[in-house]
Amino acid sequence: MDRFEPNLRIPGPTALPPTVREAGARQMINHRGPEFAAMLGRILTGMRPYFGTTSDIAMITTAGTGGLEAAVVNTISPGDRVLGVSIGSFGDRFAKIARTYGADVTKIEVEWGQAADPAVLRAELQRDNGYKAVLLTHNETSTSVMNPIPELAAVIREMAPDALILVDSVSGLGAVPFEMDAWGLDVVVTGSQKAWMAAPGLAMIAASERAWTAMETATAPRVYLDLRVHRESHAAGQTPWTPAIAVVYQVDEGIRLMTAEGAEHVFARHEACAAATRAGLTALGFELFADQRFASRTVTGAIVPDDLDWKAFNGEVKRRGVVLAGGQGKLTGKIFRVGHLGSVTLEEILGAMSVLEFVSIGAGRPVRPGSAVAAAQIAALESFGIAAPSATGAGA
Ligand code: PLP
Repeated sequence: MDRFEPNLRIPGPTALPPTVREAGARQMINHRGPEFAAMLGRILTGMRPYFGTTSDIAMITTAGTGGLEAAVVNTISPGDRVLGVSIGSFGDRFAKIARTYGADVTKIEVEWGQAADPAVLRAELQRDNGYKAVLLTHNETSTSVMNPIPELAAVIREMAPDALILVDSVSGLGAVPFEMDAWGLDVVVTGSQKAWMAAPGLAMIAASERAWTAMETATAPRVYLDLRVHRESHAAGQTPWTPAIAVVYQVDEGIRLMTAEGAEHVFARHEACAAATRAGLTALGFELFADQRFASRTVTGAIVPDDLDWKAFNGEVKRRGVVLAGGQGKLTGKIFRVGHLGSVTLEEILGAMSVLEFVSIGAGRPVRPGSAVAAAQIAALESFGIAAPSATGAGA
């Protein structure tokens, strides 16, 4: 056992607050009993405002990828034409799932680091508006880009009104404002190990009335992931199969903490931590990977400079307690990522920046002590609408 808690700065699984950890250690209960029913009810009710929907939500024991698979197999039939809009590794995965289940997938491949362009989507739907479904990624964790979902959805609704819009918000939902109903989305997927402050193991999937209706005629094979079975079971306060009860306890506690904090404060905290991370990394001399107009508020990617021995650098950072994420897929070795979602605090971000500063200086990089922490602090203050006194002001 390490003496200190690591500062786990990866974009999920996220560090768990103490009461969430304790919740996960509780004794099992009968998942067909009233205590479980009450807990499931609290979770689904507590999550609804974060989805921005009045529709039914299903909670499935599976990783986020299982949630994406559920979105696909419940709405798509083999041979259906599907448009996969991919801005990174997870967009590729979503499209691959649809293809694996027999959909005829056309892909819009966006340069990694960029968001999907509503004009490009419009042009594709002008060319062909016969798609059964369009797959979108809300927060592309691999590139640290947050797509403009309302704008993209508006284009789809206008150009292909009958297409179902399936959204991967595994690493976005709960951390930023989201309006599934107002934006006209049909299926939205999230995962317990991201903004919900819990361990991995549960995917939550909301479906619009249109999507629930489409499930009646979709013919892709499904048993475990059949959302209709989950909905029916949830109505009786249960899940169809034995759920990961320890994770259910944790999500229940995570939502209790989020409710106590208030959604607006949760969002503001994520915004401040994101701003602080971007400013801190920039002050350290790192170039941010994503087009900053679409910078994610849950993860920030930075380019590994050519002259940096990343392995040695990251090893030293880790030795000092900060755990960073590397790049994924074709970005392996090219970028590193700092996660700032879930129970993340500004103090954790400032702590991470101070370690990065220390290690940067030790590695001979031209960084002034305190500069990254100061930049991060100022960005966070500004994000809360507080003007920071200048460095030459009182007390300097
Ligand atoms: N989609 C996005 C955007 C993700 O960030 C992740 C996980 O990081 C997934 C899907 C897959 O989730 P899981 O690893 O739980 O299957």
